[in-house]
Amino acid sequence: MKDKVYTWQNDLWRQLASAGDRRHHALLLRGKRGIGKFDFAVQLSKALLCEVPDARGFACDACPSCNWFNQSNHPDYRLLTPEQDAAEDEDAAPAKKTGKKSQISISQVRELGDFLELASHRSGGVRIVLIHPAEALNASSANALLKMLEEPPPSAMFILVTHQPQKLLPTIMSRCHKIDMPVPTRQDALAWLEQHGVAEAEPMLEYAGGSPLAARDSLDNDAGKLSELWKSLARGARMDAFSSAPQFVSHGMEIAITVLQKWVYDLLATRLTGQIRYHASLQGALQGLAKSVDLGLLLDYQRKLDEARKSATHPLNNEMQLESLLIQYTQLFLTQTKP
Ligand SMILES: [Zn+2]
Repeated sequence: MKDKVYTWQNDLWRQLASAGDRRHHALLLRGKRGIGKFDFAVQLSKALLCEVPDARGFACDACPSCNWFNQSNHPDYRLLTPEQDAAEDEDAAPAKKTGKKSQISISQVRELGDFLELASHRSGGVRIVLIHPAEALNASSANALLKMLEEPPPSAMFILVTHQPQKLLPTIMSRCHKIDMPVPTRQDALAWLEQHGVAEAEPMLEYAGGSPLAARDSLDNDAGKLSELWKSLARGARMDAFSSAPQFVSHGMEIAITVLQKWVYDLLATRLTGQIRYHASLQGALQGLAKSVDLGLLLDYQRKLDEARKSATHPLNNEMQLESLLIQYTQLFLTQTKP
């Protein structure tokens, strides 16, 4: 049978699945991005609502409750995520780009009040509220939620998921049972990536800072081609900005600029501390470049990339903008590296 949680989550699943009535009414799942926290929370919600969970506590995927859940219309389940900014709805892929700005509004939390006051639709069943990411709660919506956590309605269960627990109200934190979500070992993460057909799993995992899901997602639009971009960057002053720009742009501006940002981060790190974060397998190339890079220009360039990142959602002149960024990149190096 296919596993419903990630291998690195099995132990935690066992603990939670066997907790039964001792389970806290509010769980806070916290941990870094890209390790499957949200997927875990969804599986847990579905399992708690399922009428005939299996021996390991997983949802059966066949009962009426599971069917409702799979069709996203379970009457005893609410998922709270940030509301989309209406103004940016026309954008190509607004979810990722506006995600940081968007908030979970107080009206969204107030609507929970009505939901929680009703009895569960299944006799003896729970009602589940999943909030993701919890740091998207603003001051007023967090306070409204706090009231519910302080006096939880019977059989209601809250699951909060967060990458940034430091942004939550301490009073909310203290009302929740905090769970540090397991991070896969390098070996687990590589095995998972290979199982999902990710070529070049090792550099991709490094690039994603050790988060396997982030590594997979960074490939979603064009599998395996990031290494082409790294090869271009590794040429330093000898890179041909004009022929490279279309390759970068083909990944979309946001990804293209992220690739540059991470590369420049490692270039700077190589120069200053020797500690590489995202491209360990390209250490040799980075060390070569770091010797000839002008530190002042590099710092300026890093700021320019941050600026470019902010406007990366505007589709105008992508290729020209990227050409210009790549030309500036080739000018960071004091001396031409010999081929
Ligand atoms: Zn079921």
